Amino acid sequence: MYKIKLPREINQYELEELVKVFLKAGEYIFITETNTTDTIQDSESDVLICVPGSPDLIDKKETPKEKNKLETGEKPEKNLKNQMKRFLFRELEQLTGTTPDWGILTGVRPVKLAGELLVREESLEKVKEILSTDYFLTDEKIQLLIDIVDCQKQIVKQSPREAIGLYIGIPFCPTRCVYCSFPSNQGKPEQIESYLEALHQEIAFTAENMRKKGWYPETIYIGGGTPTTLMPEQLDRLLHHVFEAFDLNKLREFTVEAGRPDTITPEKLAVIKKYKIDRISINPQSMNASTLKRIGRNHSPEDIKEAFRMARAAGIPQINTDLIAGLPDETESDFVNTLEQILDLAPENITVHTLALKRASKLKEIDSEFNYKQGKKVRSMLDQAKEMLDRDGYHPYYLYRQKQMTGNFENVGYAKENTEGIYNIRIMEEAQTIIALGAGGISKAWYPEENRLERIPNVTNYEIYMERLDEMLQRKTDNLFEEEKEC
Ligand code: SF4
Repeated sequence: MYKIKLPREINQYELEELVKVFLKAGEYIFITETNTTDTIQDSESDVLICVPGSPDLIDKKETPKEKNKLETGEKPEKNLKNQMKRFLFRELEQLTGTTPDWGILTGVRPVKLAGELLVREESLEKVKEILSTDYFLTDEKIQLLIDIVDCQKQIVKQSPREAIGLYIGIPFCPTRCVYCSFPSNQGKPEQIESYLEALHQEIAFTAENMRKKGWYPETIYIGGGTPTTLMPEQLDRLLHHVFEAFDLNKLREFTVEAGRPDTITPEKLAVIKKYKIDRISINPQSMNASTLKRIGRNHSPEDIKEAFRMARAAGIPQINTDLIAGLPDETESDFVNTLEQILDLAPENITVHTLALKRASKLKEIDSEFNYKQGKKVRSMLDQAKEMLDRDGYHPYYLYRQKQMTGNFENVGYAKENTEGIYNIRIMEEAQTIIALGAGGISKAWYPEENRLERIPNVTNYEIYMERLDEMLQRKTDNLFEEEKEC
């Protein structure tokens, strides 16, 4: 047991997130003033790590190069927290023999940090140095961040406040995948129909209020769940409502997540095409039949190829495809096989995810340590993906991390030139208001003056969403549409 002694009562959340990168639940415990060693059984194999409580004490243990970071402008409190994280990192690195690629970074948006540093420091070399000596990132991850920031700067300028990212959620799927932690239900036809009615009301309400404020959608993303679970007529009705309700004169991008190949038909693609929607996502995750079966998919690799063929025949110009590295029992050669087959299909975007198992997933219930067992293999899979995609003309354009990712790695969106997804960039940048409609949608009101986002969630359960629709609309009125309150 690793006993990590903190100097005083502090918010240990970020420190614990870092510790979890090295150690499994049950391998460590934090000791604080209220939770002392008296209450915890000692054992000879215990390892005690005492985290120093003042910058001076930690400072003594840092290398001269690391001390330079004290001049990088962090607030004192944040600075102390980062010092503690660096201290813990070094101790745990030595004790466990593990050096995580993302250093002390535990947040989900490292690209945002790199972008902010570039604005603040105005020197690429200085930014690289900070990411290396303050945050302990590997050179490879630093270069990845710099490449992505560079790419994003060319695609999106600062969004005007009136430009909104609009998300519409369809929380239904034909079956539930074993790793799924999203709102995904196998609703009966009449339930789906009632859900759509409620959603149409929220669409009309939001569109009217956006018009009053002079706001317009810059991007629209219909996600889920799997939106193509809807019947063609339902999808048509939904899109009709969207086109009727919103002012789409300045719309730059419209995506419908087709997701599961077993929901894609020529009729649904014809509806998507009728509304001139330029992007869909077909998400095989793996091209290995046995894996698809194991993860709870009802379709074969052939169905995926057929879905691509249908989408191309329908004239959909941009297809994104999601893959996952680290799926249960997949070997490196299984993953390379998936990559080769996907590259043959030539989608415009490929998003390579690292499997992240959250508490809500079935697989996490079966094996709670799954995330820790796959690290080495997943690193090699991600490296091979980068190499193969680079060779085929794809470049990384957005990146995010999640909690509980296998090996503590990342998700990277790759794109062919001029096909980058604007919505994906904006949502990670956190510099735009996102309005999310439907069950599980989390709107984010952006306050540029304070560089702050405020979350306005809808309830996740779709039945409760229908019941409490008025309350969801009121939340939007209070937090998005009413004149801004002093905060
Ligand atoms: S397709 Fe996506 S949302 Fe649906 S069950 Fe699978 S992981 Fe969950």
